[in-house]
Amino acid sequence: MKMATKLPPMPGLLLDWFPGESLYSLIAREHSISGRKKAVATINHFFGMAKERGLKDGRTEMDCLMERTEGALGPIDKILKERTILRYYRPFLRQRERRLVHPGKFGGVDMLKFPLGLHTGRYLMLYPLKGCRACVEEDRTTTGMPYWRLEHQYPGVWVCLKHDQPLFRTTALPAASDRFHLVTPNVADLSEMPGHLRDPGRFQKFRCLAEFVVSITTQFEAGLDPMEDIRKRFYTFADSSGLVTGTSKLRGYHHSKVGAISRRFEHFMPTFNDAPEFGAMFPTLHIAHNYVSRYLNAESRLYPNEHLFLAAWVEFERIGA
Ligand SMILES: [Zn+2]
Repeated sequence: MKMATKLPPMPGLLLDWFPGESLYSLIAREHSISGRKKAVATINHFFGMAKERGLKDGRTEMDCLMERTEGALGPIDKILKERTILRYYRPFLRQRERRLVHPGKFGGVDMLKFPLGLHTGRYLMLYPLKGCRACVEEDRTTTGMPYWRLEHQYPGVWVCLKHDQPLFRTTALPAASDRFHLVTPNVADLSEMPGHLRDPGRFQKFRCLAEFVVSITTQFEAGLDPMEDIRKRFYTFADSSGLVTGTSKLRGYHHSKVGAISRRFEHFMPTFNDAPEFGAMFPTLHIAHNYVSRYLNAESRLYPNEHLFLAAWVEFERIGA
């Protein structure tokens, strides 16, 4: 097999990380400074030309980045874990959701979108680039270069925990034809308060959710397994309450106790469902029962955002605690 030729190192300026900065943000800042007109030129600058960064010979896009930057941004593993949305997904990875982040699933452009968390096409709903106006103002007076915080991009995080302020989606949206879109934060583009954060009561709930999401990633980094711990607590509660069959399945919701717990989840579901990442969870008793049942059985398929939502329910309603 013909080995891919090593990419030449990139010429010119290479920025260093800001605290908690995402990979997307660093590349977007470099794009802004460079004066290049097309985002794709900056992508080529960091990752090599499209034909060079093919995934032949087991080489990934991140290998290309490493060759181009000569390792100046740190090891691949560290960049993926600390600077990309993979950090959010890691606590879910030992389940079937692993397939969602398997590199083989993606073609060239999609593969790049994943580590970068680019908000184009179908990624727009999952990763609506979010920023805090107070952070941007602060960056202007400190470094002079506002940047995107990775933590703000996690699904479920709609509050800046440093400033206790809502996060805004950027309105600097990509043209449908753009494969890549690199923007830096700008207060003028962070102008429309998401509807679900306007009400102070709902804002408090979203703050709790942001704290919960961040604590999960932090605990996971510390070697704990918070998602599995919460699920086990729920299983123990369900088992001891007689909700579980002999084959470890949730009984039907006509069983009065199962009906009661399913109704609790049904009532909880609207709490966060006007955030786009949870918008698909429509509350009916049948659907609530189905979610609770799949959550109980660790082998069932739940998307990370659904799993997060169920764990938040168990935590916030103190089920089995
Ligand atoms: Zn902030």
